[in-house]
Amino acid sequence: MVSINVKVLNKDNRFGGRNVDISFGSSSFKTPNRIATNKDYFAASSLPHNVTIKNPVSEYVSAFNKPSFDAFLTGNGSFARRKKRIAEQCIDMMRYSPIMSTIQIPKEERLTQSQLMLFNVFQNKHLDIISIPPFQYKNIDEYEDVITQFSEAARSRSQEAMPILPLSTELNIFRLEFDALRRLHKTGICNVIGFAYANPDKNIHQLIEIYDKREQDIWYHVFGVPRTPRGKNGIPVAHIHELQNYGLDTFSPEVRDVPQKAIGHLMMESQTTKPDELELKRYDSPTLGIFKEPKWIGRYGHDLHCNCPVCNGKDLTSFKYVYTHDLDGSFDPNQLRSADKVHELVSGSKEFDESMKAIKSDDLPAYYESKEFTKGRIKPPE
Ligand SMILES: [Zn+2]
Repeated sequence: MVSINVKVLNKDNRFGGRNVDISFGSSSFKTPNRIATNKDYFAASSLPHNVTIKNPVSEYVSAFNKPSFDAFLTGNGSFARRKKRIAEQCIDMMRYSPIMSTIQIPKEERLTQSQLMLFNVFQNKHLDIISIPPFQYKNIDEYEDVITQFSEAARSRSQEAMPILPLSTELNIFRLEFDALRRLHKTGICNVIGFAYANPDKNIHQLIEIYDKREQDIWYHVFGVPRTPRGKNGIPVAHIHELQNYGLDTFSPEVRDVPQKAIGHLMMESQTTKPDELELKRYDSPTLGIFKEPKWIGRYGHDLHCNCPVCNGKDLTSFKYVYTHDLDGSFDPNQLRSADKVHELVSGSKEFDESMKAIKSDDLPAYYESKEFTKGRIKPPE
């Protein structure tokens, strides 16, 4: 891959985000936009019906929880297995667009510099953009040196490096590192920053810091955005759509590190699931909410109002029938979650086209006001 080029096209001059053009040589895309992860690709490929994901960039997330992180670092497993899985899945499903690799380590953890090298080796040649996870350093000059060395090593393999800056980083350190990365950009080193998601309500100053720097021609990516219930009346808000307000450019949903044991348990459970026990959990672009099936039916009846590749031509009943059965007619409960996921990706990406236009005409605040579950939630800092 040739190096990343970012051009800021527009800023919303009321309190709102920005549009940028991100290019890699001959291909380019505009933001804000949603990024498809390996889980989204996996969901699409697990459906028996042919569904293709079209995304300008794909993201392979290597997620670690505390036990798997410790085991990985101490050499007690998973290095080879994870590396092999990356190679297989990238070649198999994600090969049509540039692949970004993100490393999701437990919150508050920082690698030693020698552990950092392990991640350099881990992110193999199938990946175009590789992560530099948070690490320990003595002073900010050393921080810059390490980022420079890692990036140059990546360049020599035709990769770009993406330093990770968690949004939960203590504000003074966040500013120090963010400023250092912006300085490095001037020397051609840092063209993309990966912000690890943290609750916006608790880390608003970090987001404002990014908002203030939205003139900068660096690509701001956020990963690990959860689908948690945060809205009124306990209805989950698709708050992957809220972060664009702060001048962030691309967004990807949380990928959890699910232990093998838990996967086995879920598989066992699904064997005894009956068709009438299954329920949809559906993303709704007109409101930016996510509804469980009874709430959806209460609002819209059986109308899906969506023409994405999985929903097109179906109502709720036929959608559920199609995505709980294999082509030979046998019952398969695991498909329904995958179909929900693909719908959410495609419908959510389309919604970003709308907010992209709103930013262009300084109307992002009006866009949020027009959506039931973001209405009144995003206010300018005082
Ligand atoms: Zn759909």
